[in-house]
Formats: sequence, C-alpha cells, structure tokens
Amino acid sequence: MPQTEKTSTLAAAAPDTRILVAGAGGFIGGSLVRYFKDKGFANIRAVDKKPLSDWYRKTPGVECLCLDLSHEKNCRRAVEGMDEVYQLAADMGGMGFIERFRIECLRSVLINAHMIESAYRAGAARYFFSSSACVYNTDLQKNPKITALKESDAYPAMAERGYGWEKLISEMFCQEYWAERGFKTFIARFHNVYGPWGTWDGGREKAPAALCRKIIKAIDDGTNEIKIWGDGTRTRSYQYIDDCVTGIDKITHCEELIATPINLGTSELVSVNELVSIIEKIAGVAVKRTYDLTAPQGVGGRNSDNTFIKKILGWEPDIPLRAGLAKTYAWIKEQYERKKAGLKTVD
Ligand code: NAD
Repeated sequence: MPQTEKTSTLAAAAPDTRILVAGAGGFIGGSLVRYFKDKGFANIRAVDKKPLSDWYRKTPGVECLCLDLSHEKNCRRAVEGMDEVYQLAADMGGMGFIERFRIECLRSVLINAHMIESAYRAGAARYFFSSSACVYNTDLQKNPKITALKESDAYPAMAERGYGWEKLISEMFCQEYWAERGFKTFIARFHNVYGPWGTWDGGREKAPAALCRKIIKAIDDGTNEIKIWGDGTRTRSYQYIDDCVTGIDKITHCEELIATPINLGTSELVSVNELVSIIEKIAGVAVKRTYDLTAPQGVGGRNSDNTFIKKILGWEPDIPLRAGLAKTYAWIKEQYERKKAGLKTVD
C-alpha cells in the first residue's frame, strides 16, 4: 500500500547545522558522514578512536578527529560547538564478537554515559543514539518462525547478555535526559545492517558479509564449499545501509519520536540458508554447505515489526535484500581481490 511520508529531514530543516558523527571510522558512521556531506552540509565533524588510516570511509571536506570516547574529556572535545550529535561509537561486531566479548560490549556504556552528558552540557539541540534489536526480550526469539518484534517487546527486559543490556541502559539514559532535563534525544533500534564499506573479514563481520566472503573464497580456491555457523534455519531481517542512514535522519527530525525507541529495519524475514541461496544466485554458483553447530548463532529468529515506523514516518526501510546484496557482494569481491594482491582494502 503506498505510504505518505510525514517528516522533514535535516537538509530541509537547516543546511548550516553543525553535525558530529561519533564512530565515523566504522560502517554506519562512515556512511552517515557521506550521506550528510552529499546533502550539502559543510560543518561535519567525524570522530573515532581508530587511527585515520583504518577508517572504512573517509569523506573529503570533513573534520576528522581520533579520540577515545570512553573518556569524558575526549567527549567534551568532540561535541564542542555541535548542534546535532549522532552517537554510533561502540565496541561491537557480529555474533562471533558479541557472544565472546561481553565485557567489551558492556564497556560501551562509558562512551554513552559520557557522550550524552557532554552533548547536553555543550547545548546540542539533538542527540541520536544507535540502539539495537538485541535489546528485545530473548524469550520471544527462540523459534525461527517468530512474531515480528514491536517496540514494547523490550520489556519485561531479558535482553541479549552484555551487548543488549548495555544498549537498553543507554536507551534509558536518553529517555531520562529528556524527562529530567528536556534534552531532545532520539533512539533507533537497528536490525541487522549490511552493505559496502562494512566489516567483511577479521571476526567482527556479520552474516551477510561473512557469507559473501565465504562464497567468493570458495569460488576462488576451487573448493566450492562453505561452512555455515549453525544449522542454517535461524532467521533475521537485513536492512541495506542506504535505508539505515535515511532512517537515522528521519527519526532524528521527528518531534513525535523524542526519547521514543523505534525499530529501524526491514520486515523481510529470511533464514541463513535462504540468505546463502540469494548470494549463490548473485555469484552464479551452487556451493556445498556444511554446518558448524558449535559456532555462535544468537537467538532462533528475529524480525522487525514496522507498524510504528510506518504510522509515525509514513516510511520504512524497503530496499530489497536481493538488490542490496548484489552491491555488497560486488564490493566484497573487490576487497577480497585487493587483499589477495597485497593492496590496502576499503578507501
Ligand atoms: P562498527 O564497528 O563498524 O563502528 C563502530 C565504530 O566505533 C568503530 O569504528 C570503532 O572504532 C568505534 N569505537 C569503538 N569504541 C570507541 C571509542 N571508545 N571511542 C571512539 N570510537 C570508538 O559498527 P557499526 O556497524 O557501524 O555500528 C554502529 C552503531 O550501530 C553501533 O552503536 C552498533 O552497536 C549499532 N548497531 C549496528 C548494527 C549493525 O548491523 N551493524 C545493528 C544494531 C546496532
């Protein structure tokens, strides 16, 4: 059914806004910087703790700072003079990372506590926080044929250990800064995001990138065989990066969403096996699949209920998985070939 979009985005509102993107050396932050720059914003500051040479994407004309935002003094420096703060810095990764490194995930609470306080003190007008579908009650996600999760399903709370609990408490910071201090905060619960300029290798990558890489490698080394984590039946929805950055902008400029967590994801539910089949079609191969039942797999199934976002924004992420994966596969193939040739990957 056609929807009528109801919100304005930042470009329409104020082109001279001073924007801070924290976590800009990473996947979503790097793409958000590019998104705002492409919309014509001139005053963008990008911050990450990684050395600049390791940032996934560097956008010319943007002020880049290397700061560890788990320290309050660095947060204060980062937010100086900023109107809008987009907080995407976190120590995170795919299932392999968040199941094994719960302490590192929990320690992101330092970033979130210091960032929101610093942004408030600096007089920022808006603060965006990147939460996650991992905040949802895990008891509701045991079966691959789950009912899609609506925003109220985070409570009573039984979030993903480590990563999910940290996100939930940081959401609460956002809600209380609005309730007690009148600071405008915005909270999106991202469901899996994928696309070019993301992590595709090294242990922090998520399923779409990992499976693209495995198929590329299987073709390259002639084995035509891939090992899949789990039995292939677990289900998820995956949103393409362009939808994610558009959604961040829309959510942060919707007054009805102040301090109100909202799902940001597609409702196109697929199993890991279906994901592999889509990538096989893109690659033009059929690989032999083996299953590693001892590998980290996460909850049985998770989907995004988009009733609320459609009602409030008249919009939802809708780039088809097949289309987004084709672009992602092509990009990862290029990175794979560059790495093999001993060249630097990502720009
Ligand atoms: P990413 O790992 O690519 O980017 C995160 C960035 O934060 C990294 O570049 C990292 O160096 C930086 N960072 C970590 N600790 C820092 C610190 N102390 N100071 C400064 N920078 C620091 O991850 P992403 O996929 O771009 O995720 C961005 C945000 O979205 C995170 O908050 C993540 O939890 C959330 N999220 C992502 C997904 C997804 O599917 N990618 C899903 C749900 C939520």
